[in-house]
Amino acid sequence: MTVWITQMLCPTRHCAFAGAWDDARTRPEQAEAQVREAMRRVGLTDHCGICGGGLRVEHAPTHYATLAEALPALTESERRNIASRRVLDRLGLTREPLHPGAGSAGATLDHFPPTADRSAPTDGASVD
Ligand SMILES: [Zn+2]
Repeated sequence: MTVWITQMLCPTRHCAFAGAWDDARTRPEQAEAQVREAMRRVGLTDHCGICGGGLRVEHAPTHYATLAEALPALTESERRNIASRRVLDRLGLTREPLHPGAGSAGATLDHFPPTADRSAPTDGASVD
């Protein structure tokens, strides 16, 4: 089994949203659909909040075998990306402010069940 990461990237590779998944339970097209649904639920568009570029999907394998093994590194990467984004926001270098729910959901697609409460934003799983 391999843990993969699906990212929504602009042409300059800013990651607007991402989720990790394992290939024992999920296929790339399912991961993409889950990421797009999670983005829709929290009100993110198909454009980068930093530069305004259009987003495209990218699937990439990690060196992790299980989501449990990958989660600490993914969560740390998410934390660092959110901190960097806040600096860019404070410097006025972004087109849209960081979503208020960023970082609240964790970094795996397991955190985005199809029945999630839409009134509680759960985005922020951007990991690069
Ligand atoms: Zn961008």
